Amino acid sequence: MEIILSCIFCRIIDKQIPASIIYEDEKAVAFLDIHPINEGHVLVVLKRHEERLSGLSEDEAGYLLKIGRKLLKAIQESGIKCEGANLFLSDGPTAGQEVMHSHLHIAPRFEGDGQRVGFIHSDPAQYPRARLDQIATAITDKLARPDKFETITQPTLETKRLILRPYRESDLADIFAYASHPEVSKFVPWEAHIAIEDSKKFLDLVKLSTRTIRDKLYYVFAVRLKESGQVVGSIDFKNVNPCIGQIDYALGFDFWNKGIMSEAAEAIRDWAFENLPKMVRLQAFCVADNVGSSRVMEKIGMTREGMRRKAFVLKGNPVDLIDYAIVRDHEGR
Ligand code: 5GP
Ligand code: ZN
Repeated sequence: MEIILSCIFCRIIDKQIPASIIYEDEKAVAFLDIHPINEGHVLVVLKRHEERLSGLSEDEAGYLLKIGRKLLKAIQESGIKCEGANLFLSDGPTAGQEVMHSHLHIAPRFEGDGQRVGFIHSDPAQYPRARLDQIATAITDKLARPDKFETITQPTLETKRLILRPYRESDLADIFAYASHPEVSKFVPWEAHIAIEDSKKFLDLVKLSTRTIRDKLYYVFAVRLKESGQVVGSIDFKNVNPCIGQIDYALGFDFWNKGIMSEAAEAIRDWAFENLPKMVRLQAFCVADNVGSSRVMEKIGMTREGMRRKAFVLKGNPVDLIDYAIVRDHEGR
């Protein structure tokens, strides 16, 4: 799963920082709010980082409420004072959203709790029927003709020695083989796979996180050696925003220092600049001690931009990060 380092909820989901978690499944997590409105105030979040409700799929948005309903029932039956509840989602800073990872609040309420919902309703005289109808039309027009998101399918890319393609269930044993080596996970947030179930979880997360909307892609590619047919690593591409793409990768220990990941990264670089006309910058970063990863970025023409000191807590230890990027110039790149 894509973890946004600066997002407090992503870090709770990834167990980097503590929270009183009351529910977790493959898609969602719920935990107690650190500044509760009343006892038992719970936040429900999807594991996938998404800032706004409109960025969630219909299924994801529905899932938040589905889990919220189930948790409310448990809260009501737990003995926590909960005669009623406010379920709410603040969408956007103007509406009071402070943590930009969309979340549903479940706030228990009881008579005399001293809380109130602070909206002031307008005088109906301000909104005669004609005005209401006009507003309704503006919305129903949009419902009838929603903006079309342009989606693209994840490509399969070929290089001299490699095929980069979407993961398949049949890659499980290969994933386990490279991801269980402690050196491979040394500089990344995830732990070395101990059992094949860990690799299965990775595949599930890949499936869950894949996004095909042009300005919001998230693709994970299996890096497969043509010669042996073995999947030896992974490289993912995402648009941080329509103008900025980012790659991240991991490669099996036995395949280091052979130029394999540079070959893969080069193919993704060319594909992205060619197919995403709005993208002007392709970036990557790594832990400062990860010399191999820095070499990949340099080999594909990225420039070292600087070091972010103690910018990430890697398995409990604060570490420096090095930023690299390549930008599109006026000639094309
Ligand atoms: P928002 O205002 O974005 O709808 O709600 C954010 C909520 O997250 C607030 O109610 C706030 O108390 C809660 N919150 C902020 N930081 C943390 C944290 O580190 N841990 C937990 N459990 N809740 C947090
Ligand atoms: Zn997040």
